[in-house]
Amino acid sequence: MELIRADLVVIGSGPAGQKAAIQAAKLGKSVVVCEKDVNIGGASLNSGTIPSKSLREAIIDLTDFYKRSFYGQSDAIRKVSINDLNYRLNKVLEEQRASLLRQFEKNKIQLVHGTAQFGSPHTIYILDSSGVVNKKITFDYCLIATGSKPRNPINVPFDKEKVLDSTRLLSIDHVPKTMIVLGGGIIGAEYASFFAALGTEVTVIDKRDHILPLLDSEIGLHLQKALSGIGLKVLGNLEPERIEKIGDHVEVRCKDGSTHQAEMLLYALGREANVDDMKIENASLCKDKSGYIPVNALFQTATPNIYAAGDVIGPPSLAATSMEQGRLAARHAFGIQTHHFPTFYPIGIYTIPEISSCGYTEGELKDLGFRYEIGRAYYYEIARNLIVGNDPGMFKILFHADTLEILGIHIIGRAATELIHIGQVAMSFNAKIDYFIDQVFNYPTYAEGYRIAALNGYNKIKHKK
Ligand SMILES: Cc1cc2nc3c(=O)[nH]c(=O)nc-3n(C[C@H](O)[C@H](O)[C@H](O)COP(=O)(O)OP(=O)(O)OC[C@H]3O[C@@H](n4cnc5c(N)ncnc54)[C@H](O)[C@@H]3O)c2cc1C
Repeated sequence: MELIRADLVVIGSGPAGQKAAIQAAKLGKSVVVCEKDVNIGGASLNSGTIPSKSLREAIIDLTDFYKRSFYGQSDAIRKVSINDLNYRLNKVLEEQRASLLRQFEKNKIQLVHGTAQFGSPHTIYILDSSGVVNKKITFDYCLIATGSKPRNPINVPFDKEKVLDSTRLLSIDHVPKTMIVLGGGIIGAEYASFFAALGTEVTVIDKRDHILPLLDSEIGLHLQKALSGIGLKVLGNLEPERIEKIGDHVEVRCKDGSTHQAEMLLYALGREANVDDMKIENASLCKDKSGYIPVNALFQTATPNIYAAGDVIGPPSLAATSMEQGRLAARHAFGIQTHHFPTFYPIGIYTIPEISSCGYTEGELKDLGFRYEIGRAYYYEIARNLIVGNDPGMFKILFHADTLEILGIHIIGRAATELIHIGQVAMSFNAKIDYFIDQVFNYPTYAEGYRIAALNGYNKIKHKK
């Protein structure tokens, strides 16, 4: 058995593990990253963020999605094959994996393939694919960054053709004519909109009355309208009871007795943390009641030399937040002055149209009893949007009615996930709404929406005074 010693062992090579490993290496520490999958990069690179966003861009380009509002939609949406989509996807994945390997090499991070299991709070064993222990690693610190996987109940007949989760979806061999998406969370809503843009007849079934309940409700309404514009149907207040493959289609029977059929079904009803094969009890750790590894604000577990970050500690479960959690954990472990995870961080939802937000929703401000005002700018008021395609969208800025401090920013529409960062930076400096009025923005840009929304909100305050 090979013996390895490291200052830091990272279990998992997803976003949380990568950033922790690189941070520790930059501090001059010896770092080993263990990865059980043949491909490095985690769910983010192999089955989550990067594949889904690559497919989204390919679909938008190949179906001329943004040209539709200008030149009209011809009778049929341009046919796109899975091969066309996969060509781009595979290219992106190869380049990202190569780039990650280069970063590991450059920073002298040792990559070990195999499943990591704790022997003690300072030891892990690495098992090869047949379950044989071939390495023992002793360490000062460890970061558990094992991520999550789709939550797949045993009574759902998953396969690689008809009944799919977000990982299996990546191996379908054709674009279906009809699809049911179970679950209107982020993953379900994103894929539902991608397939609708491809011309698939998509129905989302959700037990709530609308999809994406985390959104500011006005933005949610805007989304619902935009999605129905591309033919997507949402059936709310329905709970699936049984999923069956019948002939060449899938049938969902709901608790109210209704049945729904489609050629393919995407099961997107949540994910669960990857904890079970690590023998965490040997490191005096246990899961919380939701199956996550509990940590304090510094990402330390109950065993102080062991940290955990990313999806394995629970929401927000984003690649973006996982990266920063991993980096902060490594800094704390090696005694580097650090800050707490930011209170406000952006959330990006890549539905078509995309959405991004930072800070409070209007509903939250009402519940908290804030005196707030709203500034709005609609995409049809923005010259840049008229030039590039007149797509639907809006900016919504919530600010304190007395202090004018910005409390929340919500954007739906093209470029929203990029635009949010202007607002995020302003919020992190405690900017007030007039900040956007007093700045000059490039013209014509989508960013000008900040100014239009700020003026809209500020004028309301002025007239009340
Ligand atoms: C379809 C989809 C779309 C998404 N889109 C976005 C998006 O647009 N933006 C965004 O910010 N986030 C997005 N996410 C979420 C994002 O992918 C995750 O939040 C992120 O991957 C979590 O990173 P992580 O490092 O915690 O874990 P992961 O990326 O899950 O990586 C964990 C790694 O640990 C390995 N591992 C597990 N157990 C062991 C073990 N015992 N030994 C060795 N290795 C082990 C796994 O094989 C895996 O490679 C999306 C997710 C999905 C599924």
